[in-house]
This record gives sequence, C-alpha cells and structure tokens, in this order.
Amino acid sequence: MNAVDKLAELFKEFPGIGPRQAKRFVYYLLSRNGGYLEHFSKSVLELKREIKNCPSCFRFFPNDAAHSPLCSICRDTTRDGTCLMIVARDVDFEAIEKSHSYLGYYFILGGTVPILEKEPDKKIRAKELLALTKKRGADGLKEIIVATSVNPEGENTFEYVEKLLSPVTRQFGIKFSGLGRGLSTGTELEYSDSDTIKNALKNRS
Ligand SMILES: [Zn+2]
Repeated sequence: MNAVDKLAELFKEFPGIGPRQAKRFVYYLLSRNGGYLEHFSKSVLELKREIKNCPSCFRFFPNDAAHSPLCSICRDTTRDGTCLMIVARDVDFEAIEKSHSYLGYYFILGGTVPILEKEPDKKIRAKELLALTKKRGADGLKEIIVATSVNPEGENTFEYVEKLLSPVTRQFGIKFSGLGRGLSTGTELEYSDSDTIKNALKNRS
C-alpha cells in the first residue's frame, strides 16, 4: 500500500467519513506545505500526552495545574450531587455546559447503542456507568437524566440505559428521566442551541 492509501485508510475510520472523503483529506494534506504537516502531526501526538480521560465521568480534559486524576467538574464540590446527566459523547457534554442550565455531574457513555445490537455493553461504558451510579446512589443521588439525541439510536440507548440501571434506581429511589420530550424529532444534541437545551431540561420527563 502506498502512503496515500495508507493515510486514507486511517481517515476512513473517522466518524462519518467514507473512502472518497478520506482520499480528499490526504490530497488536501499533500497540497499544504511542510510546516503545516509538521504542525498537524505534532498536534495529533500531543493529544494523548496533554489530554486525560477522567476516571469518574470519562470526559476528556486538558491536564491542568491541579494535577488531579479527576476533571474540573468532578472535582467541583459546589455542583449538585443529587443530579447525574448521562450523555453519549464529549461534544454533547460541551453543548449542555454551554447552555448554563445544568449544575449537576455527568457521565460520558462514549457512544450509543444501535438498534438490534447484539453486544450493547461493548458499545458504551456500561460497566463503568453501573459502578458510578451505585456509588452516587449511596451518596444521595436523586435523579438521572439521559440526554441523547432524538433519533432511533438515541431512543434505543435511552431504553438500554434505563433497563441497565433499573436495579440501582429502584434500590436508591432515583428518578429516571430523559431530555427526549423537550426536543423535537431528529434533534442532534450537539447541534442544539442553549435555549433549546434549557427548554428540554425544563420539560424533561
Ligand atoms: Zn470528570
């Protein structure tokens, strides 16, 4: 395989990128100068060095001055410990934080559960979520909000998580709700504006 095909294979693994787009990315890089390419490859390498994965919410966050294994949100004791919001990806978390309408803690699933998926627990951080909700349940957690996009995969993820957590929500009397009914059909959470998210949170059920 030549260098063009090799790099195109890597781009093909990106979410939503097909073989033709992958090739376009490679030819775009070839059109840029050496300085850009050096900067580009250095930035890729820096990701793993400078960005950590929080062991509590599993959010990616920059290694900051606090040198704590936990991210700034999980470290923040002024946040509302009675509320946990579950989102699919880091971009969804960013959209919710930007809306300034939620003050509790988070959990990043790391994906969604496709319909008819045979091994749903391999698509998301199921084991980690179960462990965290048990721990937070004992610490006074009162509500879990699942914030997934309003599409079949988002609904399926909601239902899977509801079933997965039902022993914990029952044991600790935790309310389980979703943003779904506050958002219109087809809404992608990551592209929702702050007012839409604020309203969806208010109308959660
Ligand atoms: Zn965290």
